Amino acid sequence: MNLNVLAGKNLLSSTIRLYFTALLTVGMEYIAKDEHENLWHSKYLWYFHASHHHQTTKLGYGPSKNDAEANSYITPKNRTFELNDVFAVIFSATAMVVMYWSHRPLHETHLIHDVAFGCASGISVYGTSYFVGHDLCAHERGGARLASYLKKISPIMAKCADVHSRYHHKIDRNISDDADPYGPPYGFWLGPQEAIANSKDKEIIMPNFIKGLFWVGGAISILSLL
Ligand SMILES: [Zn+2]
Ligand SMILES: [Zn+2]
Repeated sequence: MNLNVLAGKNLLSSTIRLYFTALLTVGMEYIAKDEHENLWHSKYLWYFHASHHHQTTKLGYGPSKNDAEANSYITPKNRTFELNDVFAVIFSATAMVVMYWSHRPLHETHLIHDVAFGCASGISVYGTSYFVGHDLCAHERGGARLASYLKKISPIMAKCADVHSRYHHKIDRNISDDADPYGPPYGFWLGPQEAIANSKDKEIIMPNFIKGLFWVGGAISILSLL
């Protein structure tokens, strides 16, 4: 391959990878927030997610204000793993398989490899940030000392962890029977904004410019399949 063409191809591949990595790193918080609210807290997946709220339930039942709350705060003191961890295992394993498949020298990639590698990288960066903020900091799964160190070096993480603990891990019994007693925030990094919006009966949704970037990403993904 001509050197100029090769340099151009490498630049294009790197740009596509970076575009999808950045888009998914940021966009996943909005996607994860909606998944958490509409899937994890639905009657279809609550069976798995209930373990994270220290409840046991039967398949096909959603969260209820009559759930017996094992503890109003959050750190599981008596077990290392929760059934809810299956979601993290599925997402991280999928991202690793996609990364393994799509990773190759820049001049050997096709567009579809760059798109796939960028998406898997973005989801991995987001997943890692969620693990550090939510699992290690808010839920102290690496120990209380590590959590307090993380809070000390990142006041933003400390705030998100505090809001998550205080608002999402507490049963609200002053609601109707069919409402979700755990309620917002469902996002982690958006938690403080969500809590403020919720107090004004508002919702946080994905900003239009990020939606626009996803539309552009969708168009590139379709092109990559041609
Ligand atoms: Zn939840
Ligand atoms: Zn949590």
